[in-house]
Amino acid sequence: MREIVHLQTGQCGNQIGTAFWQTISGEHGLDSSGAYRGDSELQLARASVYFNEASGNKYVPRAVLVDLEPGTMDSVRAGPLGRLFRPDNFVFGQAGAGNNWAKGHYTEGAELVDQVIDVVRREAEGCDCLQGFQITHSLGGGTGSGMGTLLLSKIREGEPPAPPPQFPDRMMATFSVVPSAKVSDSVVEPYNATLSIHQLVENSDATFCIDNEALHDICRRTLKLPSPSHGDLNHLISAVMSGVSTSLRFPGQLNSDLRKLCVNLVPFPRLHFFMVGFAPLTGRGASSFRAVSVPELTQQLLDPRNMMAGSDFRNGRFLTCSAIFRGKMSMREVEEQMRKAQERNSPYFVDWIPHNVQTALCAVPPKGLKMSSTFVGNSTAIQDIFKRVGEQFTAMFRRKAFLHWYTSEGMDEMEFTEAESNMNDLVSEYQQYQVATADEGEVEEHGEEVPGKADKE
Ligand code: GDP
Repeated sequence: MREIVHLQTGQCGNQIGTAFWQTISGEHGLDSSGAYRGDSELQLARASVYFNEASGNKYVPRAVLVDLEPGTMDSVRAGPLGRLFRPDNFVFGQAGAGNNWAKGHYTEGAELVDQVIDVVRREAEGCDCLQGFQITHSLGGGTGSGMGTLLLSKIREGEPPAPPPQFPDRMMATFSVVPSAKVSDSVVEPYNATLSIHQLVENSDATFCIDNEALHDICRRTLKLPSPSHGDLNHLISAVMSGVSTSLRFPGQLNSDLRKLCVNLVPFPRLHFFMVGFAPLTGRGASSFRAVSVPELTQQLLDPRNMMAGSDFRNGRFLTCSAIFRGKMSMREVEEQMRKAQERNSPYFVDWIPHNVQTALCAVPPKGLKMSSTFVGNSTAIQDIFKRVGEQFTAMFRRKAFLHWYTSEGMDEMEFTEAESNMNDLVSEYQQYQVATADEGEVEEHGEEVPGKADKE
């Protein structure tokens, strides 16, 4: 079996990570103590991708919980999943990171990181054939963003004098929550996010971008929640994380491990930032037993308002994407509907990657739904998120506002400049592939001006 080690860091990382475990435990038929109470052998067939089997037929999440302050993890321990996690996989400090990336990455986080790596090493050694890691974190705070990205680089490269583990050939996936001024805690979030993205470009193989801006809009517009809480946002996040990981957790052919998923979705190594979507969207507590059909699911899946990224895919093009449908339905109908949807949206797919839409079916629906679908797209329109964060970064950085909080932790201003230019480069790379056509010499269809092309030439 190819196992995944999960890490959750910081407040947001622990909250969305715990919501993820709650959702998938239910799907695999496990109760809150990890005992199996399910009714289908499909539930256990690949449970060991995420769970260790312990004595007494208990399943224990292969999860490492990390924070620089105890509060969030105390709540996890006191919550419904408190007995599910392995107690010595909680690693925490007392000082907090104060929304400061430098504290997470260089000072407070650096002090705790070896303790985390020891637990990661123990989990990795217990695996039969580790496929890789996944981490949940926010990019806007201090711990998940600063220490989360420190963990990525430690796990990936280690440091020369350090003993193994170094897992340079294992896959690294991140579920990264992008900050939004609409749900914001602090003014320095654009700094923390940009410094993190600079790291993710190099050290992650697959980043599922979960944009609080889009989640907030979905809650207000579609779910009619006037002032959504983190819990409301996290309900959406756990649905999409369960959807994204379906092909890893249940038997099937398509994208059955992280490497296969990346091979299909990542045509260029730096361009691994995905937009995700889920249908049908439902509010917390609002069980949706209303019947949905394959055409409805497909239509909603490719509705820009359903995407959990604050960028409209119609402003760009999909390099690649994949959709997974769950529940009892016919593969023929799914393929037929996806083909139609693709035809309707054909301007939004690059024409130089044939068969860049992949579709899979899993018979097990998520809890509380008869059927669902999840979308993962590698769209050049994701650049809009980086532009949004980048503009906010630059506005402050130009005047060196708030910089002393970072330099007083030993950071050099140079790192800010490098992060800013790496993110600008990323935007240009997306733009370059957005305007590329199958036949480079040809004028674009309809003879329209292609934005950005002129300045390139
Ligand atoms: P850390 O503990 O230092 O990593 O800091 P946080 O995780 O609190 O990071 C702050 C950022 O995360 C802000 O952009 C918050 O809006 C966001 N955030 C915090 N908690 C949650 C949560 O439970 N769900 C979501 N969607 N966002 C969160």
